Amino acid sequence: MTEQQQGAVYAPDAAFAAHAHVTAQSYARDYARSVQDPVAFWRQEGQRIDWIRDYTEVKDTSFAPGAVSIRWFGDGTLNVAANCIDRHVATRGSQTAILWEPDDPQAEAKHISYTELLEQVSRMANVMKAQGVQKGDRVVIYLPMIPEAAYAMLACARIGAVHSVVFAGFSPDSLASRINDCGAKMLITADYAPRGGKKTPLKSNADKALLDCRDDVKCMVVKHTGDQISWVQGRDIDVKAEMAAAKPYCAYVEVGAEDPLFILYTSGSTGKPKGVVHTSGGYLVYAAMTHQMTFDYHDGDVFWCTADVGWVTGHSYILYGPLANGATTLMFEGVPTWPDAGRFWAVCEKHKVNQFYTAPTAIRSLMGLGPEWVEKYDLSSLKLLGTVGEPINPEAWNWYNTHVGKGTRPIVDTFWQTETGGHLITPLPGAIATKPGSATKPFFGVQPEILDPATAEVQSATEAEGVLCIKDSWPGQMRTLWGDHARFEEAYFSQYKGYYFTGDGCRRDGDGYYWITGRVDDVINVSGHRMGTAEVESALVAHEKVAEAAVVGYPHEIKGQGIYAYVTLMNGVEPSEELKRELEAFVRHEIGPIAKPDLIQWAPGLPKTRSGKIMRRILRKIAENDHGSLGDTSTLADPSVVEDLVANRMNRG
Ligand code: ATP
Ligand code: MG
Repeated sequence: MTEQQQGAVYAPDAAFAAHAHVTAQSYARDYARSVQDPVAFWRQEGQRIDWIRDYTEVKDTSFAPGAVSIRWFGDGTLNVAANCIDRHVATRGSQTAILWEPDDPQAEAKHISYTELLEQVSRMANVMKAQGVQKGDRVVIYLPMIPEAAYAMLACARIGAVHSVVFAGFSPDSLASRINDCGAKMLITADYAPRGGKKTPLKSNADKALLDCRDDVKCMVVKHTGDQISWVQGRDIDVKAEMAAAKPYCAYVEVGAEDPLFILYTSGSTGKPKGVVHTSGGYLVYAAMTHQMTFDYHDGDVFWCTADVGWVTGHSYILYGPLANGATTLMFEGVPTWPDAGRFWAVCEKHKVNQFYTAPTAIRSLMGLGPEWVEKYDLSSLKLLGTVGEPINPEAWNWYNTHVGKGTRPIVDTFWQTETGGHLITPLPGAIATKPGSATKPFFGVQPEILDPATAEVQSATEAEGVLCIKDSWPGQMRTLWGDHARFEEAYFSQYKGYYFTGDGCRRDGDGYYWITGRVDDVINVSGHRMGTAEVESALVAHEKVAEAAVVGYPHEIKGQGIYAYVTLMNGVEPSEELKRELEAFVRHEIGPIAKPDLIQWAPGLPKTRSGKIMRRILRKIAENDHGSLGDTSTLADPSVVEDLVANRMNRG
């Protein structure tokens, strides 16, 4: 990358801005309104969804130590499924609501219209009711990316049950701990989950998990692949058969704005997963609004978020946000690299996708396999690209921009968390010029502050660096941790009194742009210089032979902390001592001598959560030569990666 590209600013395209929901002018005006008078602002925005009993209260929130309480639209009542389905049936009943693309590219895609969605969700809800599920009960969903996953989530919402989706890649132990933590009455699973041509035995995982759960947990099974499975009479229920026999309509129930909609356990990259609770009214308003504005979604567009419904991104931007807006949302069962590295782009071409939203980790892995996979397909339908999950290093941003966006599509780098329900800091594509690697500016109603990590002082200068906190509540914010409000306060509100603490480090540049530097735990201090690990990783990945890199600190006698880099090379590149010297010199040149890695370890793979995030806390332990106590590794996608790294570590004591 040239220096010019590194400092590049991409202004919104005039033609795009002319039709955008938000323009530079309206952003400036409405953002100011949203923070000066949040009650008036959100009183109006709350009307984008349908209420059964309209709210008179809008905002009732406090971040005060020991008394954290968050309520939005508190006296309103609604039904989330009715907002996502019923209200669209009259106006767009035959429009595709969910466009399902199966794992097997030869198998047929399904177009599920709003009318059909109403029927399927009703049938599912009637089956759940017949099994005794009532308003307020918890239901754990452990399903592949199939339409039934959406039916199950919406059926819960329809009858007021609280869902907790567990990603289908999780082990029986992880599944059991989540069922038990939320006291679920029912588990919904499938026989097998096909992904990338392989099949995960979900039902047999569920059987193992249920051995560690209460005896009365019901197990509903979707016979998806039709393969042989074991069956427990009296406990297991054949969902498809029951749905076929059930009534095709189920009335929706009235729930309070603050009744829980779902519990979702965080991905666990920094510790034991937390049961994040989102409620109904504020969450839906925020998911719908961010979906419409961040992606500049317009009626008739085909929207594709590649996340799994097991993550919050799948909740807010496959299901709730898009469906609340009457969108066509694409749901993909497969993986980006099967049957080959062109699958994402083949699907974009086939379904004429208009907005495409994925993770930097997916972009980096595809980048390593070469641009020819992208070039083979017609991507002219794309209007906008997005990313989420990690800071996107400028190298990956540029690849995405050049090869997928053909240099003309806006890229929205959306910063948010399971805890925040929707985007917090993100470009609005018709309004905000982008800089590769920056999430840019706050969404409406969001007031970021940068605090000094040592003194907790608010940094009021425009240019600042420290920890990222949020000053006041927004409607999509989590309300508590399931069954543990004390841990909620402790985890998010105790470090910086009066603020929501994101756990992320951040820099604000002279233009007021926010740059997430990684989690605070990932900031290292080398000879008195504080450095985000993301910065060093970004430099390493900019080298043409490097596919991926993870950087952590380790105790260093002279410098305090030394820089330990795990490096995955591009396909076909041979590791060598010479290449190590080359990388050291490269980082030295890109950032400066202070950032030169002290130790480089070749990593055939990096430990990642199942949502694709690098688990730096494990890498830190290995680098500290403390690999005996790796902590909770239950959310690792591929545990064998860790064994290899431990065996080949550079820092033997
Ligand atoms: P846990 O909280 O259990 O450690 P997690 O934080 O990985 O898990 P998520 O809620 O999925 O779970 O991830 C949110 C985090 O992801 C953010 O706090 C931030 O570190 C990172 N992140 C998400 N989007 C971006 C982005 N656009 N730029 C930079 N970082 C991002
Ligand atoms: Mg987190």
